Amino acid sequence: MKVSLWGTRGSVPSPGPETIRYGGNTSCVGVTLSDGSLLALDAGTGIRNLGLALPVETTRLHILLTHLHLDHIQGLVFFEPLFRSQAEVVIWGPATPEASLRDRIARYISAPLSPVEVRELPCDVSFRASPEQWELGSARITAASVAHRGPTLGYRIEDAGSTLAYIPDHEPALGADLAALEPEWISGFALAEDADLLIHDGQYADEEYARHLGWGHSALSHSLAFARRTGARRTVLFHHDPMHSDRWLDTHAERAAAEWVAGGGAGAVELGREGTSYEVDPATGEFALAAEPAGSATVEASAITSVVGR
Ligand SMILES: [Zn+2]
Ligand SMILES: [Zn+2]
Repeated sequence: MKVSLWGTRGSVPSPGPETIRYGGNTSCVGVTLSDGSLLALDAGTGIRNLGLALPVETTRLHILLTHLHLDHIQGLVFFEPLFRSQAEVVIWGPATPEASLRDRIARYISAPLSPVEVRELPCDVSFRASPEQWELGSARITAASVAHRGPTLGYRIEDAGSTLAYIPDHEPALGADLAALEPEWISGFALAEDADLLIHDGQYADEEYARHLGWGHSALSHSLAFARRTGARRTVLFHHDPMHSDRWLDTHAERAAAEWVAGGGAGAVELGREGTSYEVDPATGEFALAAEPAGSATVEASAITSVVGR
């Protein structure tokens, strides 16, 4: 399994000289399974570059949406494979009693917000409510509701003996003490338990959290407590606040690493940076760094292709 970060920002795209190194695109993670199947986790603005990097012969891929906040679907209208007639795209997401997934996404992909309507997309696109568990290519996918604002899923992807957990928008500590709760009462616990790679909400510093209580996101100490309780082997903090510059995030990364070590955490904790890839090392079964950001604002198309790998 290979995992590539195409957008690590939360809430709203935040391009500019202050966000070059961690990236300004909103949530999107590309996953290549061991059998070559392609998944995109969320469709924030990062999915635009993912789509441009896909070889034209790519005909089938799956998009797994955690929820329909704009920072997780905004890139859909700019996802190039949706405009390829030979492409088959399956979009999965949370069900609600109120309206179908297709109808809810069509509120964005329709006038006046979008120049195209869903029915006009040239590709073969289908919309499916994520079940609790299903097989996709070589992976077993588990979806479960997590604590956020509105119907929101987290995903667990198990493939060839390795596990990725993706919970980008998550406030598990709202009204709860993560250190003391029994596992079955911790939001998202079963999704992340013993994950080899956990990509988790890390939006706020602890001192910022009081002003954002109930907004659906985690303070640093909550993210670390969640990672510690679930036993994740490698944790990537994700969904950076649009107000946080590269310099702010550098300091945040140092605090995260220090608090992780001080708390007796095993494994590694780091901040997600757009352009980073992780790949399972067959020798150890663990996720290792496979590619790092090109280091400048614009990643060349050739570099993107090599990051995708296929
Ligand atoms: Zn979000
Ligand atoms: Zn959200």
